[in-house]
Amino acid sequence: PDAAPLLRLDRLAVSFGAVRALKEVTLEVRAGEVVALVGANGAGKSTTLRTISGLSRPKSGTIALDGVPIAGLKPSEIVRRGIAHAMEGRRLFGGLTVAENLRLGACTRADRDGVARDVERMFALFPILKERWRQLAGTMSGGEQQQLALARALMAAPRLLLLDEPSLGVAPLLVRHIFAALAELKRQGMTMLLVEQNIALALDLADRAYVLRTGTVALSGPAAELRADDRIAQAYLGAA
Ligand code: ATP
Repeated sequence: PDAAPLLRLDRLAVSFGAVRALKEVTLEVRAGEVVALVGANGAGKSTTLRTISGLSRPKSGTIALDGVPIAGLKPSEIVRRGIAHAMEGRRLFGGLTVAENLRLGACTRADRDGVARDVERMFALFPILKERWRQLAGTMSGGEQQQLALARALMAAPRLLLLDEPSLGVAPLLVRHIFAALAELKRQGMTMLLVEQNIALALDLADRAYVLRTGTVALSGPAAELRADDRIAQAYLGAA
């Protein structure tokens, strides 16, 4: 029998007052996979990630990491169990330096040597962070901050990285650079659940994808198949 997937959401529902942001989301991410979550504005992509990382509470349904339920745990506990979230809007500490932001990303870890090694890994993935080590995060460009946000999430040494719109507010050239870094992370075996408006970029990187439409999975399959599927466009256009 197959082992439990790294992450599984089963009929997850989330409401904000009368707004049913997620109606029924069932999906899974296996270890080593990159899975894209795409769909129109308001489809529930960010809510899905925020609920996985403990920032929103499910109304019903389950979230399991390695088969163990995690819904209802505190965000810090969910990080400790291996899920890091690089958030939309970046949520960096603008008044702190690049170095301090990275250290905060590692605050749940006790292995000092591992943390030091991971700082070097981040420099290799995102060389700008080495150049700007002492710069205040709030004074960096959108693309630079996005790289710092990704690196900060990775400093938690996650088994699963949740990515919310890594291309948002980033100049096109830097977007390519960021996605090259994500491809390198994938090559290194990092498991990722990626929310991304730029569907071509998302499907290029991902192994599989789910298309969300008004809080429900409308379509899913191998990324290569979905790239050629007209229904993707329909899911977007029809989602209002
Ligand atoms: P976008 O790409 O625009 O961020 P999304 O697919 O990530 O879209 P969500 O941000 O998850 O969509 O939002 C899903 C629905 O839930 C939307 O109707 C949104 O207005 C609503 N929603 C999300 N967060 C809240 C909140 N904290 N309070 C009230 N409604 C919310």
